Amino acid sequence: MISSAEPTRLPAFATDFLAFTLSGERPDGESATGLLPNGVRYAWWDEGVLLLEPATHATHAVPIPSLLVSAGIHGDETAPIELLSRIVADIAYGTLPVACRLLIVLGNVGAMRAACRYRDDDLNRLFCGRYAQFSASVEASRAAALEALTQRFFSEASANADDRWHIDMHTAIRSSLFEQFALLPYTDARPSSAMFGWLASAHMAAVLLHTSKSDSYTHFTAQTCRAQACTLELGKVRPFGHNDLTHFFHADRAVREKIAHVSVSAEGSMPRVFTVIGQITKRSEAFEWRVAPDVPNFTPFTKGTVLARDNGECYVVQHDEERIVFPNPAVKPGLRAGLMVIETEPFSG
Ligand code: ZN
Repeated sequence: MISSAEPTRLPAFATDFLAFTLSGERPDGESATGLLPNGVRYAWWDEGVLLLEPATHATHAVPIPSLLVSAGIHGDETAPIELLSRIVADIAYGTLPVACRLLIVLGNVGAMRAACRYRDDDLNRLFCGRYAQFSASVEASRAAALEALTQRFFSEASANADDRWHIDMHTAIRSSLFEQFALLPYTDARPSSAMFGWLASAHMAAVLLHTSKSDSYTHFTAQTCRAQACTLELGKVRPFGHNDLTHFFHADRAVREKIAHVSVSAEGSMPRVFTVIGQITKRSEAFEWRVAPDVPNFTPFTKGTVLARDNGECYVVQHDEERIVFPNPAVKPGLRAGLMVIETEPFSG
């Protein structure tokens, strides 16, 4: 009889991925990869980037899904970062089974340490190669590294579209009439019923459909990696340790169900659907904002309302009702000061 077996030592980056990542520590070559007691293989790829996969998956006849879950693309969006770190710990301790290839990404680690959204430039506007135009920015090299690692992950994924997913978790700067909502990047394909069903299970109240390409992380994974990608906006930003994580219960549960590949609970109604019809761009420092500074996301405006002026040009509401999302007149000239959406047909499979 074997007695007093050596307790298996879990790697520090698996038991507290957030603290390990913030510390700037790096595992040495040998300890960067290994096997957890529950049969999950881990590989620390880079600061904030960790691969977890069932050790036996390569021997299965049917390929398993590949799922990328990211948070901290904006460094001060702490709640999803904390959720993701807990998910890694629960996998390490064996309480959350892993039934997919799972890539965990904490995006803007430098900004997370500095407790800010970004240091030089918004990381979520540097993907799809746009970082090349920002060589002096500290975020440029991170965007390039994340693109390379993300492509490496999806290059080994099953070609089946249903097996390639990316969930990017954020929190919003301002309050919202729909407190939790999702954004889907623009692609040639219609959003899938699997995605809508999952968003319903995560209790997303609204889904916003982009109608043109952008430089966000989910646009990159959707276009370049052919992933089904969504950005989740899960509520307002708070400092580390000040988040009521119970508030994120449904989204957290839905992510965990996706990781464990258990059939999603049917509760949760289908989200309302909004389609992007344009944006307000800040062109110059003469930009004049006509919207109240604390207006919540999805605030509706009626036809004829002037929302902004810039050197004689105006943004005037053209539809019977348009709603504003992510209003931010403080952006640099040339960037988006607000996204305009209208409500469209609900999703029908
Ligand atoms: Zn964000």
